[in-house]
Amino acid sequence: MQTYDFIIVGSGSAGSVLADKLSASGRFSVLVLEAGGTDRRFYVQMPLGYGKTFFDPAVNWNYKAEPDPGLGGNADHWPRGKLLGGSSSINAMVWIRGAREDFDDWRAAGNPGWGYDDLLPAFKALEDNEAGADTWRGVGGPLHVTDCSNTVHPLTKRYLAAGKQAGLPLNPDFNGAAQEGVGIYQISTRNGRRMSAARAFLRPAMKRANVRVETNALASRILFEGKRAVGVEYLQNGRTNTARAGREVILSAGSINSPQLLQLSGIGPSALLKGLGIPVVHASENVGANLQDHVGINYTFKGKLPTLNQILRPWWGKLLVGMQYILTRSGPLSLSMNHAGGFFRTDPAFSRPNMQLYFQAFSTVIPKGGERPILTPDPWPGFSIGLSNCRPSSRGEIMIRSRNPLDYPKIVANAYSTNADVDEMLAAVKFVRKIAAMPAMAEIIAEEVLPGPSIQSDADLITDFRKRSGTVYHPVSTCRMGPDPARAVVDPRLKVHGIEGLRVIDASIFPDNITGNTNAASIVTGWKGAELVLEDHK
Ligand SMILES: Cc1cc2nc3c(=O)[nH]c(=O)nc-3n(C[C@H](O)[C@H](O)[C@H](O)COP(=O)(O)OP(=O)(O)OC[C@H]3O[C@@H](n4cnc5c(N)ncnc54)[C@H](O)[C@@H]3O)c2cc1C
Repeated sequence: MQTYDFIIVGSGSAGSVLADKLSASGRFSVLVLEAGGTDRRFYVQMPLGYGKTFFDPAVNWNYKAEPDPGLGGNADHWPRGKLLGGSSSINAMVWIRGAREDFDDWRAAGNPGWGYDDLLPAFKALEDNEAGADTWRGVGGPLHVTDCSNTVHPLTKRYLAAGKQAGLPLNPDFNGAAQEGVGIYQISTRNGRRMSAARAFLRPAMKRANVRVETNALASRILFEGKRAVGVEYLQNGRTNTARAGREVILSAGSINSPQLLQLSGIGPSALLKGLGIPVVHASENVGANLQDHVGINYTFKGKLPTLNQILRPWWGKLLVGMQYILTRSGPLSLSMNHAGGFFRTDPAFSRPNMQLYFQAFSTVIPKGGERPILTPDPWPGFSIGLSNCRPSSRGEIMIRSRNPLDYPKIVANAYSTNADVDEMLAAVKFVRKIAAMPAMAEIIAEEVLPGPSIQSDADLITDFRKRSGTVYHPVSTCRMGPDPARAVVDPRLKVHGIEGLRVIDASIFPDNITGNTNAASIVTGWKGAELVLEDHK
């Protein structure tokens, strides 16, 4: 059995950073186990290719949540990246750090070192922001962030003007001084190619002799000596292998698989483990609990002006944008679908935004089986204003169903299961209609297609958003960080409470969800986590 200093399970947003930082000095040997395969695929590298990878089992776990009463009984599709770079290789690339207050709340909950000012140097150091450096942004880091102000669809201007008319400030940088307002999203790409965590961190690390990456290697169990983690068992090519960790085992398998692997290994709710016949190594009721996610919905309109639909749908348009992309790495295929967005408060009494907006100059009302129809939109000029909640109070859970590591765990989201979450979404969808009713937008809207003008009463609006909402792919907090073992899975240094030699470092440790998309915060968690690990192994 081979021994490495560190074994990292998962090469996603956080795992890629860890592989890089733990191997940089050359002092430590690092093994990365990745259940998926390579990220060298056209639809992974091409930014808008995420429409294709959304259901592709070759790169995607394709989870399905349990039927959710809060979502009108729907069983939601939960994509997760299963390849080098993890979800950062299949995500929508919107680069949002979260609000200062999110991280300050983490710190205030008893997690020293996790406040915004503590993390700001890392946020700046890891990025190479095309918009340039200032108090908030960094240049020269490994992860390139693209400023899309000159490349977004012309309709975006209308959206920004309507947002202003509806009372929101124009925000030049959501990762800058303030988050509130409407603005253009920065995205994680470089020269028209996706800038995943694998591209920024893992690929450079893989050139080092002290890094070994095993793909198609599914970690099935953590190995213990007493209460110390000493290695990992994994399945690869039909064989069961083991590797030993001289220093630490680090789980970076993401918010679904990190708690799953802990539970399979005997760390989790004792009744669940005993019921499945898994010997309890350490009882921890919070493993898999506290699931928090963002849910969102689109309001879709038929426009009087051409949108991306007119170019992405016809064969000649596809040919045109395809050629443009291949020859110049530019055009709609080099961007996210979310050209602009924003943050707003559903109640002026709130101290900060609780809702996020997305503007998409295209529409996909007509469903297409097995594909997120980004590349085959509706035949008419459609566009959408989407929104999602930022800090909902609903809580779900992720629990294994069996001892079999190949069985998918049960995902119970419990979306909109609190009155507060329903109330704020009701206020939010009304605000989306307010934006659409502003002169800059109203002039170019032929009709509201979804939900449509017949949906007016509060009861109908609620029924509609329950039926049409879904995850916006930001599950967190299933191995949450906190000082109290009775309430958290890992301590502020990301060590699993009650166990030696084992950390969890990924989005599952967020004490609470952040105001915005979760990739940047997952990457910074990897960065900060690596610093903590290195401090303990001087
Ligand atoms: C479709 C989609 C769109 C998104 N859009 C955005 C966006 O626009 N902006 C944004 O900021 N965020 C977005 N996100 C969210 C963001 O990408 C994630 O929050 C972030 O990547 C999570 O990082 P992580 O390190 O926790 O996990 P991941 O990046 O998911 O990494 C986990 C890795 O572990 C591997 N793994 C799991 N189990 C095992 C095992 N047992 N053995 C070995 N390997 C294992 C997985 O295959 C995966 O590679 C999106 C996510 C999705 C899915």
